[in-house]
Amino acid sequence: MTNQTLRDRWLQVLGRIEHGRAAGSLPRQVVRLIAVSKTRPAADIRALAEIGQRGFGENYVDEALAKQRELDELDLEWHFIGPIQSNKTRAIAEHFDWVQSVDRLKIVRRLGEQRPAGIEPLQVLIQVDLDDEPQKAGCRPEQIAELARAIAAQPRLRLRGLMAIPAPRSEPAAQRAVFERLTQQFELLKRQQPGIDTLSAGMSDDLEAAIAAGSNMVRVGTDLFGPR
Ligand SMILES: *Cc1c(COP(=O)(O)O)cnc(C)c1O
Repeated sequence: MTNQTLRDRWLQVLGRIEHGRAAGSLPRQVVRLIAVSKTRPAADIRALAEIGQRGFGENYVDEALAKQRELDELDLEWHFIGPIQSNKTRAIAEHFDWVQSVDRLKIVRRLGEQRPAGIEPLQVLIQVDLDDEPQKAGCRPEQIAELARAIAAQPRLRLRGLMAIPAPRSEPAAQRAVFERLTQQFELLKRQQPGIDTLSAGMSDDLEAAIAAGSNMVRVGTDLFGPR
């Protein structure tokens, strides 16, 4: 993809975010865009970074580390958004700014122990499974509170909020309804953890519905970079 095309697509996505925000219940809310760059070459990341994109999401640790090395001189913010295997927690703790896919206590403990002192705490989102499919990534809503307490007790971790990837639904009303359940969980958690501020929901096909329901961080791959 040419840099001009990437730029056009980036502006288009920013336009959709603005539109979703204006139509939502919190029109003054700032919504961040995380560019999901899994499977994309470092050159595409560099092209977006040059026009002002700062946050990038990656799903595969080894692939991400290779790109990070190539782009070392850029001031980017790296978000780990994929399923977390225990043997990858050290690399995540050492090389990412955010991790959005924390869904079990064992991973909290490992990340908390392995995040090096002397750099910012790792910014953490708890991934929630809203569809109640046991094989899916994400904790069940009733597990959020316990995970949140465990994260808050780790000095090298900072709990920032929740993330979800609902099963695809084509109807905007159905999309919005499931994101509203996530917003309810976020509001509940906020009573216990008043410092949280981030609700990461919405991808290429449903970002407007997510923002309308209260999301303030969207993760977009396909609509920025084309089909994978
Ligand atoms: C791949 C991925 C995305 C981006 O999805 P698109 O539909 O390509 O925009 C967002 N979030 C997560 C967790 C992903 O794995």
